[in-house]
Amino acid sequence: MSAQGIAVLGSTGSIGENTLDVLRQHPGRYRVVALLARSNVRRLVEQAREFRPDYIAIADATLLPQLRSLLQQAGLAPQVLAGPRAAEELAVLPEVQCVMAAIVGAAGLPSTLAAAGAGKRLCIANKEALVMAGPLVLAAARRSGALIMPIDSEHNAIFQCLPAGARLGEAPAGVRRVLLTASGGPFRDWSAAALENVTPQQACAHPVWSMGRKISVDSATLMNKGLEMIEAALLFGLPAGRIEVVIHRQSVVHSLVEYVDGSVLAQLGSPDMRTPIAHALAWPERMASGVQFLDLLRVARLDFEAPDTGRFPCLALAVEAARAGGEMPAVLNAANEVAVEAFLAGRLGFGGIPETCAAVMNAWGSLNGARELDAILAADARARALAGEELARQEAKA
Ligand code: NAD
Ligand code: MG
Repeated sequence: MSAQGIAVLGSTGSIGENTLDVLRQHPGRYRVVALLARSNVRRLVEQAREFRPDYIAIADATLLPQLRSLLQQAGLAPQVLAGPRAAEELAVLPEVQCVMAAIVGAAGLPSTLAAAGAGKRLCIANKEALVMAGPLVLAAARRSGALIMPIDSEHNAIFQCLPAGARLGEAPAGVRRVLLTASGGPFRDWSAAALENVTPQQACAHPVWSMGRKISVDSATLMNKGLEMIEAALLFGLPAGRIEVVIHRQSVVHSLVEYVDGSVLAQLGSPDMRTPIAHALAWPERMASGVQFLDLLRVARLDFEAPDTGRFPCLALAVEAARAGGEMPAVLNAANEVAVEAFLAGRLGFGGIPETCAAVMNAWGSLNGARELDAILAADARARALAGEELARQEAKA
């Protein structure tokens, strides 16, 4: 069998690097056709030296001259693309059979949607795209025959626990609930008062997972779990009320599915994203991922507790957005992206993140039920503008 062609969108990030590490272990099985990053030109060229892709792309077009000159120095001559549309072009290349959607944030939506429309095996890490426009992505995949494979460890775990033949987007037969586990983030044991003085550095030092900065902050606020709840509702065709979030600090049980007969199936493993990545790439087969095998005797105990939405209001906001439906998940996502960026830049306190999100949701007004991409992108833009105004108000107050 010839090697499967892969495009890794967001190749220099945490998921991108983990993906390349899995691919590195299976050189005959996969061929890296395309790599894309936003701005890390040096790392991109190092990756190109190793994987020899046919296409290299940089989303920040101002870096194109630097990319060209480094490629030339390295003696490499791939096709080079640049700018915000490059990811979409790579996602639909005929020589690409599988797309790893590992761009962070709303920026990943167009390419994720393009891959779904082009009938690819679509490995989705880019949860923001599903939160913003999940029904569109699923509908595009249904029309084209694209296979959607969740990379988010919880959703991948649930997928593994579903009955054979379950179809994404439709409530699986016999399933009563799904339970999403959450590590609780670095501040799970902190008091509300201590949370007020959290710094970006503290927020990015996750106790279990090593991840990009945006998702690290989302894990610290529990917005990540909120986004994942919306993502799960969509992928598994369940209302928010049938998805329970459980804090599980060891991050060994990656999520669970409860059946009507009382059976509960869980997927366990070391907290290492290479497991869901290898699963999504190889499914329905299995292949080695390089992760350390789980030693239950060393783990020794598994703890579960309820989340505290008083200290972590982002989770409640996400439930509210899921219940409201329409464009509200996209509005929440946009407000959160703006707030997290401001927090990382030192312009907003940790508590300002849920405050900004709540203010934007409250200011939104009636939902128009945006279904088309243009309407969703317009909602995203308006929510970002409202979040900007809210930040200015908070800064003026401080
Ligand atoms: P990261 O910040 O480490 O990497 C992001 C990648 O996207 C980089 O390669 C960057 O160059 C690229 N990128 C950023 N902005 C871009 C833009 N405007 N256009 C094109 N490319 C752009 O992030 P990550 O931790 O790898 O997360 C990626 C996605 O996967 C996120 O949606 C995150 O929620 C999800 N995810 C990550 C993990 C994890 O363990 N890191 C787990 C589950 C889900
Ligand atoms: Mg996750």
